[in-house]
Amino acid sequence: MSKIYSVKEIFYTLQGEGAQSGRPAVFCRFSGCNLWSGREDDRANAICNFCDTDFVGGAKFDSASALAEAIRNECPNGSRPLVVFTGGEPLLQLDNPLIAAIRDRGFEIAVETNGTIRAPNGIDWLTVSPKAKAQLVQTSGTELKLVYPQVGAEPEKYESLDFEHFFLQPMDDPQLRENTQLATEYCLRNPKWRLSLQIHKIIGLP
Ligand code: SF4
Repeated sequence: MSKIYSVKEIFYTLQGEGAQSGRPAVFCRFSGCNLWSGREDDRANAICNFCDTDFVGGAKFDSASALAEAIRNECPNGSRPLVVFTGGEPLLQLDNPLIAAIRDRGFEIAVETNGTIRAPNGIDWLTVSPKAKAQLVQTSGTELKLVYPQVGAEPEKYESLDFEHFFLQPMDDPQLRENTQLATEYCLRNPKWRLSLQIHKIIGLP
């Protein structure tokens, strides 16, 4: 029996975060996360409680090729295609058949994970975003993107891990302005780290 993939949404936009900021990409947002149910009633007691994403519900795809086709259909002809698998937690669902189906269609594959599940092979760009109360399992990748500040997830804990890029992204809560200032000051004092702003929110893209 083939696997069912649960997908909240698939959409074409600009990557808004990290070192690939500004690059057009198809986003495939999987439903579900292992650190929060997605229900507001559960937020206070969740392992991760600052989520800014709706990853509950969505559509079902009954095969890797059906989902890969839906992703390809979002991509304009002639572009150099990039797909960003996000969520929720994408590594709960992204598997080898889906990676193969996407590669067959010529896409580069990026993944944004909370780092609690080891990533499979075949990912071109792996972004890990550690959460203070969750054990970090995936300790290598392309970029480490830390939402800042998080008590218990200070940047010093991660700076010697095996990543090419290190980003601080200000936490998007009612203190966003203050958080941005703190992250800016930290980067200025510690130039290994760069500032990641969520530019899709600034310019009004999904
Ligand atoms: S790990 Fe990511 S998707 Fe899951 S609740 Fe936290 S921010 Fe949201």
